[in-house]
Amino acid sequence: CGIVGVLGNHEAAPILVEALKRLEYRGYDSAGIATVNKDNRLDRRRAVGKLVNLSDELVHNPLQGKSGIGHTRWATHGAPTTDNAHPHRAGPVAVVHNGIIENFRELREELAAEGINFCTETDTETVALMAQSHLEKGVSPVEAVKATLARLDGAFALCFLFDGQDDLIIAARRGSPLAIGHGDGEMFVGSDAIALAPMTDKVTYLEEGDWAVITRAGAEIFDARNQHANRPMKQVRMDA
Ligand code: GLU
Repeated sequence: CGIVGVLGNHEAAPILVEALKRLEYRGYDSAGIATVNKDNRLDRRRAVGKLVNLSDELVHNPLQGKSGIGHTRWATHGAPTTDNAHPHRAGPVAVVHNGIIENFRELREELAAEGINFCTETDTETVALMAQSHLEKGVSPVEAVKATLARLDGAFALCFLFDGQDDLIIAARRGSPLAIGHGDGEMFVGSDAIALAPMTDKVTYLEEGDWAVITRAGAEIFDARNQHANRPMKQVRMDA
């Protein structure tokens, strides 16, 4: 339902939770964040219910790191439980997802045939497992996401975060909006620019079918045919 991401210079967890709060009005049943910590390890925290429950969880089990992704979920596939909450993790990759992967059953069968096991009933876990399967064949995160996106049907937005990569988020837009926010040596992602208002008002909107390789140095955007795309950076007015 709501997606946020940050490659920052400060602790990411409070920034992600604040950004998710700005998307609360959209409604949700659970929430979670994942970060890459100072040891370059991927970790995550999730909670059912309101963001205050996630904040409580973070008080008891803090999550460090300056890079991260976050999500508020409105369940479409799988009950609103902690296990089904995003980010979904499969080995070295964490994924947050808005919308629906229409062909996830078919993809699930393919992955099951490879001997891969599932922990959830969600369509999203399929995306994480597919990306992991590609990464384990030795390709780069960018190639793994590119190959994964090529197999997905449906209307969705996705953000990927990787173990061992504290300067990389890969984001994709297909039928569900995503905005990239430009900070000063920091970069942000949001399903709505309003989520990014406290951090930046310089925003690049991904167009339909676009995907982006984001580092602190900036965003490299590709179109649906995997060709380099130039999308304008806009200064947006946000009275909030
Ligand atoms: N289809 C996904 C799920 O049920 C994402 C739902 C959403 O947009 O929050 O987990």
